[in-house]
Amino acid sequence: MIWRGVIDRYKKYLPVTEATLVVTLHEGNTPLIYSDVLSRLLSAAVYLKYEGMNPTGSFKDRGMTLAVSKALEAHSKMVICASTGNTSASAAAYAAKAGIKSVVLIPKGAVALGKLSQALIHNAQVVSIDGNFDQALQLAKEIAEKWPVTLVNSLNPFRLEGQKTGAFEICDQLDGRAPDFHAIPVGNAGNISAYWKGYKEYFKNKKIYSKPVMLGFQAQGAAPIVKKRIILNPKTVATAIKIGNPASWRMAEEARDESGGLIGAVTDKEILEAYKLLASREGIFVEPASAASVAGILKLGRKRYFQNRRSRKKKIIVCILTGHGLKDPDSALREIKNPQAVPARLDAILAAVKI
Ligand SMILES: *Cc1c(COP(=O)(O)O)cnc(C)c1O
Repeated sequence: MIWRGVIDRYKKYLPVTEATLVVTLHEGNTPLIYSDVLSRLLSAAVYLKYEGMNPTGSFKDRGMTLAVSKALEAHSKMVICASTGNTSASAAAYAAKAGIKSVVLIPKGAVALGKLSQALIHNAQVVSIDGNFDQALQLAKEIAEKWPVTLVNSLNPFRLEGQKTGAFEICDQLDGRAPDFHAIPVGNAGNISAYWKGYKEYFKNKKIYSKPVMLGFQAQGAAPIVKKRIILNPKTVATAIKIGNPASWRMAEEARDESGGLIGAVTDKEILEAYKLLASREGIFVEPASAASVAGILKLGRKRYFQNRRSRKKKIIVCILTGHGLKDPDSALREIKNPQAVPARLDAILAAVKI
């Protein structure tokens, strides 16, 4: 059977009707990969939900399919977003598929190369702002209020509705059970809120009989929720979560508190270590922001967070790997030395490598 995207698969749980013209690139159905290395390190069953396998390379596609379908239903001719990169890539692609226009506001110099090239090749009107993401979002909101343009940032409720399908998929892939812990990077805080909503709905519909503890992770230099204050000048290598005033701040706190979880901070060093561990030991290339979830559980593991629980049965931890590593090749090249050219001779190659 052909997979036709998350609206087709989960329409029962989504605000669509038979009349909705579905704009899809067949997003979702991403792999849930068992991690040998992390499972061993944490004495748990750790699974990686590889959202980088979505059509534009990040989880944003789950929400964008619904946001753009609903924009079309409302006869909108243009969508707008502010973006650290992945929202703009996704908005541009789905707008292209829908045959409508897109405008994206990005913070100058803070968007990874792959993401920028996506927005441009999908024909978005890209405006680079001399400011940060939070300022860009404020401006995008203002434009959407005053002009006939649909805002497709996660303030658009259809975004979170679409993104909650990630939770459904995980439970379906685990044969009708929820993980014990759900670890996820937190930027604008929409995704953690969407996942929690998804788990609660599956629970209410008796698709699962427990809900996970939600573990969110911000970068140390961009951790407003952890520090309980707006960060005016957020700093981190993880550009996708470089956000100082998250739009879904309150909802993320609710997800944390209702689930008995936590939102913690990880340093750039910890993020990059997890980034390299995933690539070198698991064969999974993610962008730095995605590695925050793995850095977070490793940090909790060192504090024996997962062992302190009563039951002896292995806990299931699911980490969301939010975006693909190819989005941000510069980060990889910064971490690993570029190879020097050698003469095209056997002896030169043998001198350069260990065989
Ligand atoms: C958008 C994004 C995030 C942050 O998600 P929020 O919903 O803003 O918290 C994390 N990682 C990647 C790769 C993203 O694109």
